Amino acid sequence: MTTIHITRKIETMFKSHGENDYPHECCGFILGHFEENQSFGVEYLPATNVKEENRERRFLIDPQAYQIAEDEADDKGLSVISIVHSHPDHPHKPSDFDRDHAWPGFSYIIISVQKGTAVSYRSWQLNQNREQFIKENIQIVEEKK
Ligand SMILES: [Zn+2]
Repeated sequence: MTTIHITRKIETMFKSHGENDYPHECCGFILGHFEENQSFGVEYLPATNVKEENRERRFLIDPQAYQIAEDEADDKGLSVISIVHSHPDHPHKPSDFDRDHAWPGFSYIIISVQKGTAVSYRSWQLNQNREQFIKENIQIVEEKK
């Protein structure tokens, strides 16, 4: 099983992003680095949900937003390690749509936002044959003051 390490600040940021964009889905990126079966998040980069319709149930990341995230990561010597999105009034489980639009090797963090409050989240990775998502451990790193 893989593990993603994120800071408390990243967690706070994506949860409030999901709450602020409710009842629409939010999406964003976590920049960081990979180390064997683990990844380490350094910062959260919010993206804009550009889907015109049905933003409650779908998210679409503008290829340009993805490029911006990649460039920003490159500038800092980091990689995009995770794509984060919210499920307004739905559980933190990936949908078939999510599976069909995911790539192996990234962490997909899904936040369940119920009535405007981020109640839970989980990280998933698509398996190599792209048939199913596998749960991933999330480790919260407390930042040094
Ligand atoms: Zn989804």
